[in-house]
Amino acid sequence: MKIGIFLETIANTIIPVGLELIGKTIEMMGDRSYTLHGIIAINKNQNNTLFDKSLKGVESYLDEVFIFEYEDEYLTTDHYREALCEYVENENPKILLLGATPLGRSFGPRVAAHFKTGITADCTEIKYDEKHGLIQIRPAYGEEILAEIVTPKTFPQMSTIRPGVMDPPNLKGNKKAEVTMCKRELLEKKLTILNRHEIKQDTKLDEAKIVVIAGNAIKEIEELDMIKKLAKVLGGEYAVTRPLVEGGLAPYSRQVGVSGTILSASVVLLLGVSGSNQTLSGIRKAKKIISVNNDPEAAIFKKVDIGIVDDWMNIAKIILEKKGEI
Ligand SMILES: Cc1cc2nc3c(=O)[nH]c(=O)nc-3n(C[C@H](O)[C@H](O)[C@H](O)COP(=O)(O)OP(=O)(O)OC[C@H]3O[C@@H](n4cnc5c(N)ncnc54)[C@H](O)[C@@H]3O)c2cc1C
Repeated sequence: MKIGIFLETIANTIIPVGLELIGKTIEMMGDRSYTLHGIIAINKNQNNTLFDKSLKGVESYLDEVFIFEYEDEYLTTDHYREALCEYVENENPKILLLGATPLGRSFGPRVAAHFKTGITADCTEIKYDEKHGLIQIRPAYGEEILAEIVTPKTFPQMSTIRPGVMDPPNLKGNKKAEVTMCKRELLEKKLTILNRHEIKQDTKLDEAKIVVIAGNAIKEIEELDMIKKLAKVLGGEYAVTRPLVEGGLAPYSRQVGVSGTILSASVVLLLGVSGSNQTLSGIRKAKKIISVNNDPEAAIFKKVDIGIVDDWMNIAKIILEKKGEI
């Protein structure tokens, strides 16, 4: 059985979700016999040292890597779609996984439509059994339930998987992938990109090691400013729950949770957060979770390592005072 993993590159580097999908597949398949493929699409200028280094990071886990190289300077969704469709046609994998990045979300469903197969978007877990093949698991109804979705009759069985929720392999692989270069021209050119401008993100929340999360108890911009200051003196980033984004206090890029960013922080400090499943799914991987809430019955206290029953502002002031900030 063949399993294909699409390895997305940005700035000549394979982005981390690729390795996360490899790690999960190795764990999921256990001792079963299967062949693991990586699929990459690049433009011809991308094949440089940085790319080679990045490729070395995955080669030891894969049996074969297919690199589709295009002449065009900028790749569009169609380049990725054609590359992945050609891979599926030639190799006939039973399972095909992609990161649920904006790119994976945009062209994964087009590949699925081409092969008249199903795809589950935004999975947070996958499993495998002999009866169903790939079991695609994702939150449904606002994270109230976890739906297990199977597509046992059509192939490949496809999922896009959220970045940051799975772990890369914990052991060094012992394979040495064969690399197959496929130089291609786009067959169906609907769009030509003339230039591309990168919009710098104001934060990389998913990479921060310490995150202070402001919840709905924070109603004023001055209060949020205090939390921003607190995050800064603690050497971390501030984030918010969804009500603050909806209320216009903070941009979406700061939202944590099922429809926001999944954190990989070591320490998370929650201030005035009730503990909804939607928020919690964004902080599950944190090693230490501390919460301040003035309601001793708040659900969040059942899910944290350290719980403090108090007004969030009292605790923020104590820390800022200790740090000489007020
Ligand atoms: C499809 C869907 C997707 C969603 N996605 C997300 C998501 O990605 N992220 C997200 O966060 N939410 C998301 N939500 C919203 C989610 O359901 C909750 O409404 C939200 O998480 C609640 O945010 P909160 O805990 O900050 O606010 P609340 O539930 O209002 O809790 C505020 C808490 O602050 C405490 N408090 C009040 N005053 C003080 C004080 N002075 N000091 C200390 N504590 C105080 C209260 O006791 C309370 O527990 C989503 C909802 C849906 C339906």
